[in-house]
Amino acid sequence: MRQALVAAHEARGRGEVPVGTCIVNGDQMLAVAGNRTRTDQDPTAHAEVVALREAARRVSNYRLIDAVVYSTIEPCVMCAGALIQARVRRLVFGARDERAGAVESRFKVCDTDFLNHRIEITAGVLEEECRELMQDFFRERRLAKGLSEPPALAGGQSQNRLR
Ligand SMILES: [Zn+2]
Repeated sequence: MRQALVAAHEARGRGEVPVGTCIVNGDQMLAVAGNRTRTDQDPTAHAEVVALREAARRVSNYRLIDAVVYSTIEPCVMCAGALIQARVRRLVFGARDERAGAVESRFKVCDTDFLNHRIEITAGVLEEECRELMQDFFRERRLAKGLSEPPALAGGQSQNRLR
């Protein structure tokens, strides 16, 4: 998760929503990536998808059956779907995304019973740090736009509508 946080900080430096993902297989690091949607002008370039692509290329296999994916924020619908497609073994995430999270918060994509693949889920790892990075980012962006802080931020929810 520390590596994922480094990638999230790096994404923030590029003006991206600060989300980072790290994929490991045993002792082997397969990929580390931050959000790249703006950098690449690609709406699918969320950290999780970028990292899955890199990891799959590295092992020359579109299935990552023993992989553990660390992500700073609860994945969205697209990314949760991609994790299932890749058949990853385990997902570890930092902070929940109450607005768009698709693992526990808004949807439970990984729990659907018609899928014959179950991903082990661990939530809340380095949660505060992961959430604060997002909150700082959106607070700064709001201040830059001269807007006041909405109550949702004070309540500890992520505001990643710009992601
Ligand atoms: Zn996503």
